[in-house]
Amino acid sequence: MDMARVNFVLHGHSVSPGITIGHAHLVSSARLEVAHYEVPEPGIEYEVARFDAAVGKVRDELLEVGKQIPADAPAEFGAFVDLHAMILNDPSLASVPKTLIREHRCNAEWALIQQMESLVAQFDAIDDPYLKERKADITQVVERVLKALLGRPGTVEPNLSAEKQLIVVAHDLSPADMLLFKQHAFGGFVTDVGGVTSHTAILARSLNIPAIVGLHHARHMIREGDLLIVDGIQGVLIVAPDAIVLAEYQLKQSQHELERKKLRRLKSTPAATLDGFPVELFANIELPQDMPEVLENGAQGIGLFRTEFLFMNRKDLPGEEEQFEAYREVTRAMEGKPVTIRTLDIGADKALSGEAYTMPNPALGLRAIRYCLSEPQMFLGQLRAILRASHYGKIRLLIPMLAHAHEIDQTLLLIKEAKASLDASGEPYDKGIPVGGMIEIPAAALALPMFMRKLGFLSLGTNDLIQYTLAIDRTDDAVAHLYDPLHPAVLQLVSQTITRANRAGVPVAVCGEMAGDPRLTRLLLGLGLRNFSMHPAQLLAIKERVLKTCVADIQPMAARVLRSTDSRRTQELLLKLNS
Ligand code: PEP
Ligand code: MG
Repeated sequence: MDMARVNFVLHGHSVSPGITIGHAHLVSSARLEVAHYEVPEPGIEYEVARFDAAVGKVRDELLEVGKQIPADAPAEFGAFVDLHAMILNDPSLASVPKTLIREHRCNAEWALIQQMESLVAQFDAIDDPYLKERKADITQVVERVLKALLGRPGTVEPNLSAEKQLIVVAHDLSPADMLLFKQHAFGGFVTDVGGVTSHTAILARSLNIPAIVGLHHARHMIREGDLLIVDGIQGVLIVAPDAIVLAEYQLKQSQHELERKKLRRLKSTPAATLDGFPVELFANIELPQDMPEVLENGAQGIGLFRTEFLFMNRKDLPGEEEQFEAYREVTRAMEGKPVTIRTLDIGADKALSGEAYTMPNPALGLRAIRYCLSEPQMFLGQLRAILRASHYGKIRLLIPMLAHAHEIDQTLLLIKEAKASLDASGEPYDKGIPVGGMIEIPAAALALPMFMRKLGFLSLGTNDLIQYTLAIDRTDDAVAHLYDPLHPAVLQLVSQTITRANRAGVPVAVCGEMAGDPRLTRLLLGLGLRNFSMHPAQLLAIKERVLKTCVADIQPMAARVLRSTDSRRTQELLLKLNS
């Protein structure tokens, strides 16, 4: 660590609790996608050759692109190809990474990204707007070389134990970037931007590593290798801490780990309140790879399988067969316990690879069921895959983002069509598969009887319900402070949905982030909720709250929280409810 570095503190929004101490690892999105590892001494020249070959390949590609430009194309086309060729051949890109490989023994991709970031930083410092713009060209050229490199993957695996000590510092990360984190074992991550219920944050939580978003200037102020403390409980990042602060946090960290260990004892304890109400605690997953954690935490079912993550970080869409395998794998692992598979919720912040959203407001655009109904063939493939997997366990089909009766009708018709095609080919499936709907648009919560008439169960997606009720983009940290699960309007919609569904005997769950927040467990129990679905990592903490709650005792206080129209008073009442 640089001894002259003075410690400082940055404040952001905590997205994943816990404390981690480690060294800063600055990344851009592109950098995350490449492995970074130390090359053993005998492999250095091979690595240099790999780099040279990739540069050569891109040089040929650019020549080819240049040749194919039509004669009548605007002059800028040719100029752009020339510029890219010039950047590629400049020693700062064609030679410096080789020095980095030789001197620091980093793999070719890592060396290239490091050099790109150093060049981009130099361009950032220039005042000339034209030159500033050129950094996009550098990034594009680097991406081409990276692609060429990735076509010939290296043979050395990254050193996972070293990664654990690293804290990723990024300006922004997309949900697709976060998926790539799953292949690494970083100690924590912090970003400048992002909302606490963005899908990036949700994925960070599912990784169960301390994380903070909305730090604004972390990427600029922190240097590679700086010692960092991520306090994911308070949402505080401490850079270059002194010895006293460090010792204090080491103690806090071991206390936190001790508490988590204690919670593990609750794994097989049935979840029920003190006055005997059984409560179902289900898990949310993104990929079949999440299953070990689900089982370790004793989930009684899967309440939300976000299938769109099977569709991300790839050029092609997963076919019916591949999806079927994934759904069956999860279903088999749950051994007869319910598995709620949500149909594709693509759109908004979850983009398909290479798909640039040009719609004016993606969160209000062709997202989730709207997208699926506009692509019936793709949707039918998914429905068939889910139905086929239902033969191997207890699957429930969940439809996201419903607002209109005709969307439900169209979906049910397509399910019927998918069933008919399976009947025709004699493939087995659960004929009584329940079909439910997400209640995550205020219109759906307000027009609940229409949903209850047509669907077998409901799941409250509070992340979107809050986003759409309060008109707050969940991915935008500029309005993150307005994202309020305790807003009276939100609580009214949540409470009404639970009460009406309970009264009608329609199963209802909450699968948004509210379900995994221990500060809200008693409130939701008091409002009548008996099924919570959350990240597996949160499950035992929520179970502990359930086990310590007597519904009859807390109900009057929960009703007072619901009636409160003053936010300070709401906080006070919530504190009392939780004491
Ligand atoms: C929600 O909106 O609360 C939800 C569970 O779905 P997602 O977070 O995937 O939008
Ligand atoms: Mg949602």
